[in-house]
Amino acid sequence: MQNLGEIIRAHITLHGPMSIETYWNLCLSHPEHGYYIKKDPLGVAGDFTTSPEISQLFGEMIGIWAVNKWQEMGCPSAINLVECGPGRGTLMADLLRIAAMIPDFDAALQVHLVEMSPFLRQKQREALGEKNVIWHNDLSSVPSDDPLLIIGNEFLDALPIRQYVFVDGVWRERVITTIGEELGFSIGSKIESADFPAAQQNDIFEASLVRDRVFLTMCQKIKLSKGSILMIDYGHDQVSMGNSFQAVMNHQFSNVLENQGHADLTSHIDFARLKFISEHERLLSSIWSQNSFLIEMGIVQRAAQLRASATLPQQEEIDAALFRLLDIGQMGDLFKVIEVNT
Ligand code: SAH
Repeated sequence: MQNLGEIIRAHITLHGPMSIETYWNLCLSHPEHGYYIKKDPLGVAGDFTTSPEISQLFGEMIGIWAVNKWQEMGCPSAINLVECGPGRGTLMADLLRIAAMIPDFDAALQVHLVEMSPFLRQKQREALGEKNVIWHNDLSSVPSDDPLLIIGNEFLDALPIRQYVFVDGVWRERVITTIGEELGFSIGSKIESADFPAAQQNDIFEASLVRDRVFLTMCQKIKLSKGSILMIDYGHDQVSMGNSFQAVMNHQFSNVLENQGHADLTSHIDFARLKFISEHERLLSSIWSQNSFLIEMGIVQRAAQLRASATLPQQEEIDAALFRLLDIGQMGDLFKVIEVNT
């Protein structure tokens, strides 16, 4: 049986150099060998740790945000809450603890999870117990008849990008090819009429048609139904050049062209682009740092409340988690939050 690296090399031999988007899709979602198809990537035993896995405080703050949005909408008697890429279901389980404190909100809530991984769907089922949940492969089947809240942490960064290189005054696609037995990058065909920012020789610019389309769908859904979007991820809020294509395995960076199907692939989110898309749809959006968003939602007060009934080691754990989520120069400001409202 071929491994994913061999499948990719055979594909290139047959069809020629491959876009990063095609490579990415094969690595993460190949039906047999794809990274998200066959394993649990999260936690200490996995490849990376996310904010909801660091502390229950994170999902609880998203819960407070959701309750606020429901109240701002006049407490409708039915609301669809959609989480994209819920991982192990930890964020949703923590959010639902907050929801349960507001019985009218809890009763109005229908939870939807957009998840492609059968493996992670099973984990989500376990985390959410008896809760009535509807799973979707993508956003297209999510209803827009009732008000909608769409949330996601580190979901958009799992969607594929393409890269372009500025060479001798023109933009060309950066592609993946074979060099002997290995994979390597090379420069592909010229991109006609690319309206990319001004650049210098060898600058790399990243764009993601898939991410743009998914975010546009979210915007169109909330326009139809009324509601809000909250996406959290690492990225920049100004358009910028640079190569942010990266692979992570066992909590360490790995070569993006090795360990196919065993390493997670991500890139930084261009939040300015997301804002542009939402404003083009005539929606109101704002970008926060993770630090300012969580503080605004009351994370410090909630941590103090948890501390009050905690043992000393638990108190230390709460303090460490709070520091990790809020630390400026680390997760506190490398992670950003975009909120979109109708
Ligand atoms: N939000 C979780 C997990 C982040 S990992 C957390 O913060 O812990 C990315 C998640 O997105 C996983 O659940 C993965 O299976 C899911 N995912 C990745 N690409 C997807 C796609 N194209 N469609 C649906 N889900 C996807």
